[in-house]
Formats: sequence, C-alpha cells, structure tokens
Amino acid sequence: MSVPFNKPFTISNELENIKTAIENGIIRGDGGFSKKCSEFLEHKLNCKKVLLTHSCTAALEMAAILLNLKSGDEVIMPSYTFVSTANAVVLRGVEGGAKPVFIDIRQDTKNIDENLIERAITDKTKAIFVVHYAGVACEMDKIMEIARKHNLAVVEDAAQAVGSFYKGKPLGTIGDIGCFSFHETKNIISGEGGAIVINNDKYIERAEIIREKGTNRSKFFRGQVDKYTWVDIGSSYLPSDMIAAFLLPQLENMDTINKRRLEIWKRYDKLFAQYDNIIERPFIPDNCCHNAHMYYILFKDLQKRTDFINYMKNRGISCVFHYIPLHSAPAGIKYCKTPFEMPVTDKVGDTLVRLPLFYNMSDDDFASIEDAINDYFRSL
Ligand SMILES: *Cc1c(COP(=O)(O)O)cnc(C)c1O
Repeated sequence: MSVPFNKPFTISNELENIKTAIENGIIRGDGGFSKKCSEFLEHKLNCKKVLLTHSCTAALEMAAILLNLKSGDEVIMPSYTFVSTANAVVLRGVEGGAKPVFIDIRQDTKNIDENLIERAITDKTKAIFVVHYAGVACEMDKIMEIARKHNLAVVEDAAQAVGSFYKGKPLGTIGDIGCFSFHETKNIISGEGGAIVINNDKYIERAEIIREKGTNRSKFFRGQVDKYTWVDIGSSYLPSDMIAAFLLPQLENMDTINKRRLEIWKRYDKLFAQYDNIIERPFIPDNCCHNAHMYYILFKDLQKRTDFINYMKNRGISCVFHYIPLHSAPAGIKYCKTPFEMPVTDKVGDTLVRLPLFYNMSDDDFASIEDAINDYFRSL
C-alpha cells in the first residue's frame, strides 16, 4: 500500500458546477460562480472585499502593486516561506524591484519573529509581509502595533491559513491585505486558485482595476461608468468561472474539510507524542485556532531527517521536507537583504519534515503510516 503526500479531492458538486458554468454561457472570469465565491468568503470571514485570483502568487503581486513599492523600498518578511512571498516584492515594485529583507523565525511556531522586526526597520521600510506557517497565526497584535507605530502596511500571506483564526479573527482579515491559495496542495482547492482580501478601504477600488488589466471594467459592469478604458497599470489576475465553479462547493464545505484534517492532525500528534525525546512536534499558541493545514515534525539534524524520509519512501509513504530558506537561495542572495544571522531558519530548513495529510485519507492509509512510523522509531 502506498500513501501519497497529497491527493486532490472533490467533496460535493464541483464537476456538475463546471457543466453548469458552461451551460450558463460564461466561463471567463467574474461570472456567476466567481461572484458567489467572493460573496461567500466576504460573509464567512466578515470582511469588506474579496477578489478571486488565479493563485496566491497573483494575490501577492497585486498586493505589491497596491502598496506602490518603489525600487529601493524594503519589505520585511521571513525567509522560511514559499518563493512567491518574496518574488512579488522583487517583481512588482513599480520602477523596478523593491527589496525583501529577511529576518528569522520563532523556534516554536516557525513564524516571523515579531521581536526582530523593529531592529530591521530602516527609513526605506514600507511594509511587513507575514506568513502564517502551517495555518498557525503570527503574533498579529504585536505586528500590527509595530506597523502602526512606523506607518508600515501589513500583508498577510495566508496561503496556508484559510479557515484559521487569531484571537477569534479570521487570518487574512487582520492586515491591510490578505492573500489565500486554493492550490491543490492547500486545504480548499481548485487546482490553481487564490483570493486577495482587501481590509483597508483605500486599496479596494484600485485592486479591482489592477486585477482587470489596469482597466475600470468592474465599474463598467456595475454600470458606474459608461465606458471602460485603461486607467492604471495592471495585469490579468482573475480565474476562469470554471475554476470558481469548482471552488464554490469547496468553500461551502470549508468547516467539514478542516474538521476532518484536524482529526488526522490530532492522530499524528498523539502518535508522535510517544517520540518526544527524538523529535519536536508543532506548537499551537493558545490564542490560535488552526486549520490543520500541515502536520510536521523536526529531527535533530539533516541526516536524521534524510534517514526518516528514505525509510518512509521505502515503505511507500511520501514525506517531504519544506522550504530551502530563501536567504540562502541564489535569487534570494541576488535580490534580497539579510541583515542578521538566521539560526532558527537555517535549522528548520534542514530538519523539518511534513507528513501526508489530505481530506480523504482513509483509516487504512493512516494505519499504514502509523505502522511505518512505529517501526522506524522502535528500530532506532
Ligand atoms: C502555496 C503558497 C503560496 C503560493 O500559492 P499559489 O496559489 O500556488 O500561488 C504562497 N505562499 C505560501 C506561504 C504558500 O504556502
């Protein structure tokens, strides 16, 4: 029996919806299903504006354009993240790239260390991009307080955090802008997909324009202007309505999906608790309610992690490591700044491993993972 790391799934009428979209005669972006998805999210998250995008990468790029980043501007972010967090800043600074400034993460949550932010602020700093790793919230109260004090914008890369909360507030709705992913490896999926959440009124109108190739087409469709034209820079960031048709039932079943994932997450946590002397388990702060995006463990060193991944692979179970820290990647060295040592990031980059976790994992799947894990640790 083999267990993949991730498996795409449908939960309801995704496929019928795609047919309906075609029958309705609208499969371009911003058809009826797109509208339903963004309204659903606005209601569910109790936020002002949600626009679907074709990826979280697109949402992050839109955020970089909205912030009007200029060349020389600096954006503080973790290096332990996906390339898109940093790429958006490098790529989308108006008049050339702005500069990601990497700082270390916290040992416990693997999220940006809020206590290092102020030290990295210079007169060029314009924003803080935070990443809610594994769907567990960054320390947002402190981060928002620092941002207000220094007049910085906050963008939440909530790619992994759809349906997670910080002190009762949905992640993605706390900073000025939030970005979600519906990539097939995330909790809620549409193959590729994403959304941008605009929490600061001043960005709403321009977000619609940037997303529609720099035109005021959204206003035109609403009848607010009598012709549409090129008014600003922009690109095509909207998904096809077929994607939204697939996404809608996924969103509507968000609680069911996340609940099932959390059951699996808890089974892993109980299993690994037996091996606390050998590995480190995830830490969830009391004020966080997480969506079980990921179950990971950390070994003491790279060799031990490699041994485990190879052992599991031989047992047919796909376990994967995660980010190679961006500050040590070739493009990270070329385009970004790393003012301080990054001991935690370096260590986590070498030692963290993720276990298979997907919505329709069967009890048999879990049993074979459990057997392999027990055999591995008992053989040490
Ligand atoms: C998955 C992910 C992204 C990219 O999402 P896409 O929808 O694939 O563009 C960005 N940031 C983080 C932290 C992610 O996990």
